[in-house]
Amino acid sequence: MSRRDELLDYAGTVKGFMPRDEGLALFEFALAHGERSHRGTWLEIGAWCGKSAVYLGAAAEATNSVLYSLDHHRGSEENQAGWEHFDASLVDPSDGRLNTLPSWQRTIAEARLESTVIGLVGPSVVVATHFNQPLDILFIDGGHGRDVAWADYEAWTPKIVVGGLLLIHDVFANPDDGGRPPYEIYRAALESGAFIERAECGSLRALTRVH
Ligand code: MG
Repeated sequence: MSRRDELLDYAGTVKGFMPRDEGLALFEFALAHGERSHRGTWLEIGAWCGKSAVYLGAAAEATNSVLYSLDHHRGSEENQAGWEHFDASLVDPSDGRLNTLPSWQRTIAEARLESTVIGLVGPSVVVATHFNQPLDILFIDGGHGRDVAWADYEAWTPKIVVGGLLLIHDVFANPDDGGRPPYEIYRAALESGAFIERAECGSLRALTRVH
C-alpha cells in the first residue's frame, strides 16, 4: 500500500467530525496547492483528535510542507457535557475537563507524521498575535460560536499570502443544516474582495487569496 493510501485509510479511523468525502477533498485541495508551492507553511485551527491533521498532513508530507495544528484541546462549546457533541471518554479524570491533546498526540504518532504536523496548544488569538509566519494554507475548523469563529477569521486570514488557500469547514448556507458563523465568515471573505471561491465539497469551502 502506498504511503498516501496508508495515511488516508488511517485518517478514516480517527475520531472526529470530518465526513470521509470532505476529508478526502481536504487532502486533494491541499495537495494540489502544495504541488504548486512546495515547502509551504500551513495551519489548521481546531485540531480535536487529529483527524483533519492526518488528511492535511498526508498532503503536507507529500509536498515537503509543514502543518501547524492549533487547538486549546479543551473542546468547543458544543463539545461540553450536556451538548450534542460531548464525548465522555475525552474527559481527564484528574480535573473533569475535556482534554483532546493525548488523543491528538497518539494520532499523529500512529500516522508517523510527527515531523510534518506540529502541535500548537493554546488560545487561537493569543497564538496568532505572536505568529508572524506567512501562511500558504489556512484551514478554519475551530469553534462555531459567533465570537470564536469571527476571532479566528480576523486574527488569522490576514496571514495568508496572495495566492494562498483559505479552507473553511462547516459552511452551511441553510441555517437548518448547521450554525451560521462559519457561513458568515465564508461570506465575509468573499465580500472582502480578497478571496475568490475555488472549490467545495459538502460543507467544506476552498478560497484563494487574490490580493
Ligand atoms: Mg468541522
